[in-house]
Amino acid sequence: MAPPTELTTSPHPAPPPQPSLSSEPTFLAFLPILCAVWSDGLMEDAELGAVSGALGGAGWMTPEGRRQVRDWLDPSSPPAPPVFAAATTTIQSGAGSSLTLARAGVAVAQAAVRRRLHLMTLYGEEPAAELRSAADMVPWRDDALATLGQVELELGLAGPEALRELTGMGDERTAPPLPPPGVVDEVAAHIHGGHADVRSRVREALARPELSIPGEIPRGEYRERTLTAVKVLADMGIGGIALPREWGGLGDPGGAVAAFEELALGDLSVLVKYGVQFGLFGGSIAQLGTEKHHERYLAQVASLALPGCYAMTETGHGSNVRDLRTTADYDRASGEFVITTPDDDARKDYIGNAALHARMATVFARLRIGPEDHGVHAFLVHIRDARGRTAPGVRIEDCGAKAGLNGVDNGRIWFDGVRVGAEALLDRFARITPEGEYESPIPSAGRRFFTMLGTLIAGRISIAAASQAVTRKALTIAVRYAAARPQFGPAGGGEVPILDYLSLQRNLLTRLATSYAMGFAVRDLTRRFADPDTDRMELEVRAAGLKAAASRLAMESLQACREACGGKGYLAENQFARLRADTDVFTTFEGANPVLLQLVAKGLLSRLRRDLGSMNMWGMARYLAELTGIRLAEMNPVVTRRTDPAHLADPDFQLAAFRYREQRLLRSAARRLKARMDQGMDSFDAINECQDHLITLARAHVDRIVLEASVESLDPMDECHGKELITRVIALYGLATLEANRAWYLETGYFEPPKSEAVRREVNVLCGELAPRALELVDAFGIPDELLGAPIGRQRQRD
Ligand SMILES: Cc1cc2nc3c(=O)[nH]c(=O)nc-3n(C[C@H](O)[C@H](O)[C@H](O)COP(=O)(O)OP(=O)(O)OC[C@H]3O[C@@H](n4cnc5c(N)ncnc54)[C@H](O)[C@@H]3O)c2cc1C
Repeated sequence: MAPPTELTTSPHPAPPPQPSLSSEPTFLAFLPILCAVWSDGLMEDAELGAVSGALGGAGWMTPEGRRQVRDWLDPSSPPAPPVFAAATTTIQSGAGSSLTLARAGVAVAQAAVRRRLHLMTLYGEEPAAELRSAADMVPWRDDALATLGQVELELGLAGPEALRELTGMGDERTAPPLPPPGVVDEVAAHIHGGHADVRSRVREALARPELSIPGEIPRGEYRERTLTAVKVLADMGIGGIALPREWGGLGDPGGAVAAFEELALGDLSVLVKYGVQFGLFGGSIAQLGTEKHHERYLAQVASLALPGCYAMTETGHGSNVRDLRTTADYDRASGEFVITTPDDDARKDYIGNAALHARMATVFARLRIGPEDHGVHAFLVHIRDARGRTAPGVRIEDCGAKAGLNGVDNGRIWFDGVRVGAEALLDRFARITPEGEYESPIPSAGRRFFTMLGTLIAGRISIAAASQAVTRKALTIAVRYAAARPQFGPAGGGEVPILDYLSLQRNLLTRLATSYAMGFAVRDLTRRFADPDTDRMELEVRAAGLKAAASRLAMESLQACREACGGKGYLAENQFARLRADTDVFTTFEGANPVLLQLVAKGLLSRLRRDLGSMNMWGMARYLAELTGIRLAEMNPVVTRRTDPAHLADPDFQLAAFRYREQRLLRSAARRLKARMDQGMDSFDAINECQDHLITLARAHVDRIVLEASVESLDPMDECHGKELITRVIALYGLATLEANRAWYLETGYFEPPKSEAVRREVNVLCGELAPRALELVDAFGIPDELLGAPIGRQRQRD
């Protein structure tokens, strides 16, 4: 190996060479037109023809100037970003007050000649007579204007827009003005979407004393109170919204999500107990069982006559449910299953409703017939009798106090050879034949299990919706407080509300914008969920991603909102302490967020493989052309540098940037995984080595679907006065997300530093614009004062 040289050991690497641009005047005259031609990253045949044709007749050009222009005319070689950047800077500084590309070209050429003369004078050199006469006016000025003007006309670039587009000079904010105050009702109608009847029924329930949010009460009392509240909901028919009509329900899965979202404005213990009873326990019977189970149990579930629980997690296996170890051995002689907990590691753990109230459990266990293991299946097992006595062979232990949700009785369950009839198997996807044989329409055990889990997708969608409600509640309290709380002020003036401070605006308003955007995405997800034609795999990916993103947003918003309320935020009466404790576990149950994000990434990779695998030659060519198109159109030097506010807030630009990030991360993840597996690494290790990449990909996917759903939500608002307000809110979401990912965009060259700085600036500008409208934006959430705690959440302005 060669000894290290001074260069390689230097701690300071040499700076990259700066791009140099020719100062040849006749080339410079063409420069604005060349830049305009390359501004979309593509050189069309017509553009090439127009510029080449003009060169032929441009007798005023020098051979060197002509050669340099031709260097820019290779369609397969766009100017490198630094060269393009240097060119636009040269045009900006030399174009003066020119209004067209042709005039700008001549002005730039003149400026270059003047600069050369100036330098020569400085160094005592004598300029040639020809150059001296050019100092006032290049002699070929009129000829050049004729040639360049003709090219402008041919390319449709005549007029001031082309130059303004290229340089950003003279750009002014063109966004329409915000509507005057008074659009709350319109905005509110738009953000909530359908299911108004369900929502108002839940609001009615939340107004009842049994459902009020209790202060500090002993745990035992709290649990009984929570049970009573769930009974009230059942009596009002709110428990069975998703269940089939023939068994006492409304058959309305979207309505059930809306009900869950509304309930999340109240006591979260009630929400979670409600979710366990009707969503998990009832949902497992409805989705995994068959008619005999529905007929026998669903009406009792909906009325709470049969309280139940959903016993999947074990102490040893939480996220990895495929490897659960509770067993269900089929006894051919008696036609029964024998449910057994082999050891303490396989006891059921954290099970909601189990410690006190559940009489039946949906138990997930390995179905075995003799030595054959058919994988995890669901069974209905009685764990208590009607008087609350534990069933024979069942042992239950209380999980005790938790960080939050203490109105829910979570417990651990052991099964010691508990015998249940064959009908206990929830047999939609697998059954035991009368001959005692195992039978399933899905041959692969892994696929069968994931199909079973997929049917329980409602839980994730519901948690996403509930997280949204919590975020809105926290923001409502904090924005109202911040608008009313004065601190400091200009010398000689009064104190100003803390919402006037930029750092507070950034903390609250970027989250407010994100919660609006997330709300549109969750609404779109709920609509897809209720549509029987939706692709299930796509739905699973979306549900997993949005559950992870919405629960994370809720936790981060709670912290930001608590801090925005200062000491008041820490008082129990203002709810943040309790909300944080109760919401925290939303990031863990129904799938731990990091695990869900990997599920998203794997779903995207499978789809890519499927798409590529099924493509014929033409499909593949089109696919590659599309990707190349994205690269050329969006990585072109003008776009990477454009910094004007209208461009940054443009949904087309934002969507393109979000899609680019997702696509690039997807392709690079696929390449990295393939490279490892091609070298013989097994898929588990390969995925683990790329795990950070996969999680980043999943986040990029979620960001994209949130922005897409938000932008699409604007379409039906054409007639609304509030449309511009929501448009601005969505633009802030888009920009704040770009800002959060600035490092990535800079690393990949999608942004150049000025653009990255402009994004940051524009976030500030939008925060400032929206701050005076923040009260309206939270009022549109429509959360009743009684649910906001006392008293800061109710205050709307300074007394
Ligand atoms: C209040 C509460 C109520 C619950 N209610 C129920 C219920 O009613 N029924 C029920 O069945 N269960 C219930 N659960 C259990 C819950 O679903 C599990 O806690 C959850 O699935 C996580 O499992 P775990 O606790 O074993 O954590 P683990 O799976 O051990 O995870 C621990 C950490 O490791 C991370 N991790 C795990 N695998 C990976 C990986 N491959 N890559 C990267 N990171 C990874 C996780 O993200 C997490 O951060 C409840 C839990 C709580 C706390």
